[in-house]
Amino acid sequence: MSNAQPPNSQFEIIGNFHLHTDHSDGTGTHRQVAMAAAQAGLDVIVYTDHNVWVAGKEGWYTHPNTGKKVLLLMGEEVHDPRRFPQVNHYLCLGVDQEVREQASRPQALINAVNRHGGVGFIAHPIERPAPLFDEPELPWVDWNVTGFTGIELWNYMSEFKSFLTSKPAAVFAAFFPGLLIAEPFRETLALWDDLTRDGQKVVAIGGADAHANVYSLGPLRRTIFPYEYLFRAVNTHLLLDAPLSSDLASAKRQVLNALRAGHAFIAYELAGPSRGFRFTATGHAGTVSMGDDVRLDGPVTLRATSPLPARLRLLKDGREIVQTQGRELIHETKEPGVFRVEAYRRYRIKRRGWVFSNPIYVRGIK
Ligand SMILES: [Zn+2]
Ligand SMILES: [Zn+2]
Repeated sequence: MSNAQPPNSQFEIIGNFHLHTDHSDGTGTHRQVAMAAAQAGLDVIVYTDHNVWVAGKEGWYTHPNTGKKVLLLMGEEVHDPRRFPQVNHYLCLGVDQEVREQASRPQALINAVNRHGGVGFIAHPIERPAPLFDEPELPWVDWNVTGFTGIELWNYMSEFKSFLTSKPAAVFAAFFPGLLIAEPFRETLALWDDLTRDGQKVVAIGGADAHANVYSLGPLRRTIFPYEYLFRAVNTHLLLDAPLSSDLASAKRQVLNALRAGHAFIAYELAGPSRGFRFTATGHAGTVSMGDDVRLDGPVTLRATSPLPARLRLLKDGREIVQTQGRELIHETKEPGVFRVEAYRRYRIKRRGWVFSNPIYVRGIK
């Protein structure tokens, strides 16, 4: 049994892979959004405006006061604008060109992203409508597709929208989002577990879906929500094999590879800094990390370690098998399955979802 650390245990970066600028229905310029990301401490963002891919914007942004650097990459959130309601939003990351011409055919779009070396995520796969603001639900509906990298398990603005059930509720939500935002939709978690149950890899990410639009309700006007606020909320942490390169092409490849492999976890940063959270599996051949496969050639030890005390839940094929309060959870399995970890922490009165790991796929020997 090897005690070696998994190769991707050292180099953690924090990113947000779903946001809108003034190139679609957001309010910030590319530069303003980059500055907000730097102020929030992010390492990488991908611009995902609706049906528009913008050339010449990739590179590094350096905050003038703090010197904090953020890697800026270009992506696109594609949907078919002629369809009503405008369902099936697909986050296309790392595609070096416009792909919206495939918008009306989800499978062709997924294939195009893969062909261009990108990764693709089904955005807000399950949604609830907010009729008060004339916002219909925009779920994914064509579930016969294959080849997508993963799903957006937790979309901050989708969850926020689900609280806008009346005018008083909307005002409360706009001023006290921290009292409401709690976790991904249970239906989305169940959907994800269904997708991975037969061993298919489906990577989960979390995103802001930031727009920073101003909403008016009678005399009240409020920006829902500033970019920087959202970049301190639901993010995706990536685990890299090496420090993030200073060469743009190499750094981009590192980010895309980590996303593709699922070397990632989702974190709600307001409930506590989650940098350092790890979920590993150790078998005969060594130690692997979230997103990886491990062969069941003897017992496999699953281990979650947390930088802060939390309620840690280990799930196998969507069902909880162990739960503990603390910084570490260890479980030995002799059975194959899809294992993932959820961590919960108390924040603003109640327990909130804090960390959602990608799964480790324990494969039986055939
Ligand atoms: Zn969308
Ligand atoms: Zn969006």
